[in-house]
Amino acid sequence: MKVGILALQGDVREHKRILTKLDAEPVEVKLPQDLEDLDALIIPGGESTTIGMLIKKYKLDIAIKEKHKLGMPIYGACAGAIILAKNIIGSSQPKLALADISIKRNEYGSQINSFEANLSIKDIGDFKGIFIRAPIIKSFYNGCQVLSEHNNHPVMVRQNNLLITTFHPELINDTRIHEYFLNMAQEYKQVRDMQRDIEKSDE
Ligand code: GLN
Repeated sequence: MKVGILALQGDVREHKRILTKLDAEPVEVKLPQDLEDLDALIIPGGESTTIGMLIKKYKLDIAIKEKHKLGMPIYGACAGAIILAKNIIGSSQPKLALADISIKRNEYGSQINSFEANLSIKDIGDFKGIFIRAPIIKSFYNGCQVLSEHNNHPVMVRQNNLLITTFHPELINDTRIHEYFLNMAQEYKQVRDMQRDIEKSDE
């Protein structure tokens, strides 16, 4: 399975390491053509203003939105979650605006910038969540499914082919969230393979 990692800024290496461990093929995405032939895309944590700006600069926004429309799974972690949100409270920074969530950056406060929390995740179980200057999802709409919450705020959400965490699973040696995402990618790949077969038999 070919999984793209948006490689403009942020935790690219860490996601690569986990994908390789799971026998998936990580692909660094820097330009629109890098999205061709991918089964899924990860938008890593980092600095959402920088990532958003570069996405626009390299015209990746249009290309990623097209892939999203086709059903390609996209996973945004932390800054990636911010980039995917339709509404970033109090900020007009560039974003993809694909997920029906309202999110507030750096909302756990400036003093407690990072923390660990024991989470319970639907279909996965107990999981150690690493939060680094994390945002808070303040509200969600239109069929967003909350897979985990912390202090009454969603920290893992799924909306169709979008997966969002406000924490960083790539920083620990637990591969289960990436496995969950690879399952989403597998479903998409199967549908695409089927469509290709149909197109071929029509020729
Ligand atoms: N605070 C960062 C932002 O607003 C996100 C932090 C992270 O990805 N760890 O973009």
